[in-house]
Amino acid sequence: MRLLLLFSIFLFSCQSYKSLHQKAIVVDTHNDVLSSATMKGLNIENDLTGKTHSDIARFKKGGVDAQIFSIFCNERFGKDTAYKFANIEIDSLYAIVARNPDKMMMVTNPLQLQQAIAQKKLACLMGVEGGHMIEDNLSYLDAFYKRGVRYMTLTWNNSTSWATSALDETTKKDSLVHKGLNAFGKNIVKRMNSLGMMVDISHVGEQTFWDAINTTTKPVIASHSCVYNFNPVFRNLKDEQIKAIGKNGGVIHLNFFSLFLDSTFQKKADKYSALYKREIDSLTILKWAGYEIEGYLLAKYPEAAKNLKPPLSLLIDHIDYIVRLIGVDHVGLGSDFDGISSAPKELKDVTAMPLITKALLKRGYSKADVRKILGENFIRVFTANTVNGL
Ligand SMILES: [Zn+2]
Repeated sequence: MRLLLLFSIFLFSCQSYKSLHQKAIVVDTHNDVLSSATMKGLNIENDLTGKTHSDIARFKKGGVDAQIFSIFCNERFGKDTAYKFANIEIDSLYAIVARNPDKMMMVTNPLQLQQAIAQKKLACLMGVEGGHMIEDNLSYLDAFYKRGVRYMTLTWNNSTSWATSALDETTKKDSLVHKGLNAFGKNIVKRMNSLGMMVDISHVGEQTFWDAINTTTKPVIASHSCVYNFNPVFRNLKDEQIKAIGKNGGVIHLNFFSLFLDSTFQKKADKYSALYKREIDSLTILKWAGYEIEGYLLAKYPEAAKNLKPPLSLLIDHIDYIVRLIGVDHVGLGSDFDGISSAPKELKDVTAMPLITKALLKRGYSKADVRKILGENFIRVFTANTVNGL
């Protein structure tokens, strides 16, 4: 009898997290599948299990209602190539959505987002990850907006002529010509505000962060960032930055990357890299970027990679920390799936998203608070940034 009772409680709690996750609006503010898979010839209309973190069917399985697809190219793209490449990537998403009108819908404002959800379609949004893609040209920023881009990360790891990145501010320090946003950079932030494009401060240097937060008149987002106090890596957010985002009314969406979550990860990963030094050296000669080599190795030797991964509870610790500092209205999810080589053990791909809901309930969050974290906080900021309902 007692066993039966325990089993019923277990069954009830299973159903309750699953139904909460299904009913809630789940938004993920950062996924790199377009640049890491689509642009390399993989089609997310197919089942890509084992090859990628996400595809159309798996977004559905994971209960994701709205996905912001990252439009990304790295620093090797510059004048005359970055903007063009970004547009081809945007074309690729439009083409996929056009071929799947029963499953997906392009969304540029909160009303359309609600319509897509009501029609049980994946709401597809876009964010440009790296200011270098506007090639110092405000008309390119306007054109991105017109094509439906609704956030721009001011920098990626590379700086632009108008904004310094977290990586450069940390590693180049005194050799930088300028630090933070220059006058043109501040104009870009103002232009984004007036267009209705969210300012994304993930990846930016601290000085750029402060210049942006002091310039913007709208709430900002961090589309995929973690907490510095847990793990002092170059682009995690310090307490003062987190507090400033709280004051600004913005939202920090947590990145699932093991390297940003777990302070012991780098050491473990270094040991692992030492094992495969010869392969790393030859790929470096072929001019592969560090993150590309990392992804290649982790895919090739998955068993060894498994032991490197932190538990999902660490992601919840990061969420908890921000909630304690600035409240539950300022946290969300920005997985960085298909842009990261390692996520917490339990989060093998996008289908594991309901486990986050389960873990949040287990940590003591109310259903209303879980709904805020899963998507309502993002919708608030999205709405606050939207101009004339567009
Ligand atoms: Zn990124």
